[in-house]
Amino acid sequence: MKYRDFGKTGVAISALGFGAMRLPMGGTRTGGNVDIETSVALMHQAFGLGVNYVDTAYGYCNGQSEVAVGAALQSWKDSRVYVSTKMPLWLIKSKGDGRKYLEEQMGRLKIERIDFLHLHGLKLEDWNGRLVECELMQDIEWARSGGLFEHLSFSSHDAPENMITLMDTGLFESLLCQYNLLDRRNEPAIDHAHAKGIGVVVMGPVAGGKLVTSQEVFASMAPGTQAASSPEIALRFVLSNEKVSCALSGMSSPQMVAENAAVCSRSPRLSAEEEEQVRAAFEEKKKLKELYCTGCKYCMPCPQGVNIAHCFEAMSYQVIYGNTQQARFQYGLIGDKWHEGNGADACTACGACLEKCPQNIAIPERLAEVHKVLGEGAGG
Ligand code: SF4
Ligand code: SF4
Repeated sequence: MKYRDFGKTGVAISALGFGAMRLPMGGTRTGGNVDIETSVALMHQAFGLGVNYVDTAYGYCNGQSEVAVGAALQSWKDSRVYVSTKMPLWLIKSKGDGRKYLEEQMGRLKIERIDFLHLHGLKLEDWNGRLVECELMQDIEWARSGGLFEHLSFSSHDAPENMITLMDTGLFESLLCQYNLLDRRNEPAIDHAHAKGIGVVVMGPVAGGKLVTSQEVFASMAPGTQAASSPEIALRFVLSNEKVSCALSGMSSPQMVAENAAVCSRSPRLSAEEEEQVRAAFEEKKKLKELYCTGCKYCMPCPQGVNIAHCFEAMSYQVIYGNTQQARFQYGLIGDKWHEGNGADACTACGACLEKCPQNIAIPERLAEVHKVLGEGAGG
């Protein structure tokens, strides 16, 4: 495993971080429970391969990710592992809420000190508004003086210029942001962090699965690369940027852990030719995906509440990228608070959506196909 200095924190962290947001679960992903025993074994496998940074959050895996991470840390004595978690800022609505959630998080993790406490999904607007009204920093100072955390960090999906303003407060020691082969918008924020000695961890190196293809699809996309798979390329792209200390991967199988750890143990830099070839191939896939369905939602709402756009989004992972696992995962999200509505099986083929689709997609027939391939009980 390669290790990199983490800004000015004095800590060297592994180039691969364990993202504990996709732990193995029993039942459905939105309603099930984390399989603690399997998750602990997976994290121990990663720690054994040199991963020394594990990242969780209050809200991951129906709130059970922190419990699983705590269990993995308690039963691991062989090496030092740094734990990062995130305070749920969207739940901070009044004074004292920061303290309340942090105490709950400490209870779940069963540790005395969090190494990297992140403000989760920090937006400049909230920082200057709601979080001031709720006196969040008083709770943070209370936690700091009580030794509940070592380093204050933030994760963000805000505009890069807003992340820069947040970094310029001088309060944060590391930044967690999105960065991948298809999305380089945060490069100015990463550059700024590096210049100020703020550590950078990257989330979404595989773009939420959009950079994961089957081996067959990958072979046709990038015949000239030395890489074995598209996730390898995606990870190597992120780590080719020396200003990034660590790439998080949400690992849910022993095979993923082994493969990612192997990539991050070698020199990860991509050649310019490889980068260009693979980027062009993925851009091509993106266009194909839009031909399948642009996600415009003109066809919605459906009288039966079918989330048509997300059904097709899920299916595109199957038909464009050959990634059945991601396709089923995405289909299983329908019904949660971010993907409201019903699955494809609720379609009664009434035809009301047909004339609204600018792509002239045969929606009811395609929906039937989606449920057949991705619905519960589908083969594979
Ligand atoms: S055909 Fe199906 S998806 Fe379209 S409006 Fe009718 S029920 Fe909804
Ligand atoms: S209107 Fe057509 S292209 Fe737009 S989301 Fe619906 S099915 Fe997709």
